[in-house]
Amino acid sequence: MKVFICGGAGYIGSHLVHELSTLSQYEIIIIDNLSKGHVESIPAGITFENADICDKGALERVFTKHKPEAVMHFCASIAVGESVTDPLGYYENNVVGTIYLLQAMKKHNVKYFIFSSTAAIFGNPEETPIPDDSPTKPINPYGDTKLTVEKILAWTEDAHGIKYVCLRYFNACGAHESGKIGEDHDPETHLIPVILQVALGKREKIKIYGDKYDTKDGTCVRDYVHVTDLATAHIKALEYLVRENKSNKFNLGSGEGYTVKEVIEASRKITGHPIPEIIEEPRAGDPAILIAGSERAEKILGWKRKYNTIEDIVKTAWKYHQSHPNGYNNK
Ligand code: UDP
Repeated sequence: MKVFICGGAGYIGSHLVHELSTLSQYEIIIIDNLSKGHVESIPAGITFENADICDKGALERVFTKHKPEAVMHFCASIAVGESVTDPLGYYENNVVGTIYLLQAMKKHNVKYFIFSSTAAIFGNPEETPIPDDSPTKPINPYGDTKLTVEKILAWTEDAHGIKYVCLRYFNACGAHESGKIGEDHDPETHLIPVILQVALGKREKIKIYGDKYDTKDGTCVRDYVHVTDLATAHIKALEYLVRENKSNKFNLGSGEGYTVKEVIEASRKITGHPIPEIIEEPRAGDPAILIAGSERAEKILGWKRKYNTIEDIVKTAWKYHQSHPNGYNNK
């Protein structure tokens, strides 16, 4: 089966590509404009098209050339804080780009779509862990762009028969166990890589965004899920679409949360570095607690996580960061 991996040179996309490339029944074509992705993350022998999903002409060219049967869509702007200051840029990239992609799928009769959604669609959830069918109420533009796409997908299925799976990621983290690929954003804003940059001596301190939240130590609680486990869920979702020909939405969480301070403490243990910290003002758009159950993914997709503790996750991230202290560009 021919599968387009849009954003396949990015953090989660590249881990999916590595997992999917171990299965002989899939032919992978990566579509990425390399605005955030890294060509170095692409394994040898995988087809790569440098194309932007916001460029209709480029999409027409790659769909005509490769005739995919399924599309996995990882391209997105993903920084919550930045989405608050640049909502228009976020709607353009995350919503308009996806519309172009769906239009190309409609035209070329591609029936299966897997969408990278997010915990941010739930806003400040009413129930914790967040059930799969919890009400959605994003509190930042990033989450709203993803929810908007989820709504578009429901209408697109009705009108054009495109079957989809939305995977609502909680905090993606960690790196491939080989240490060869990992998280490299510029600028880096995500908690674990930023902490590890302190351990590498590239930053002086970790800034903790707020310690007056209603949580056990006052810092925000997040549900950290290993990126390889997220990749596995995509493969299970594709199998599900082909097997059942039905659309669905799944939370991909671990049912457990860690505070920012707990993640820092775990990182001190793994790296042996004191990792000094400083309390800063809370970041705009940050909910206090985001933890999800993943009952539906476990039951329907048969998804099972391999990484179950924050220490195991940080260990893999540390392996990547130690071997790539300046990211992909300067190994
Ligand atoms: N965070 C922090 N300092 C940082 C980066 C993140 O205190 O330098 C906090 C952030 O406020 C949030 C948690 O760590 O509560 C996870 O943030 P991240 O940006 O990694 O992911 P998000 O939850 O926004 O998707």
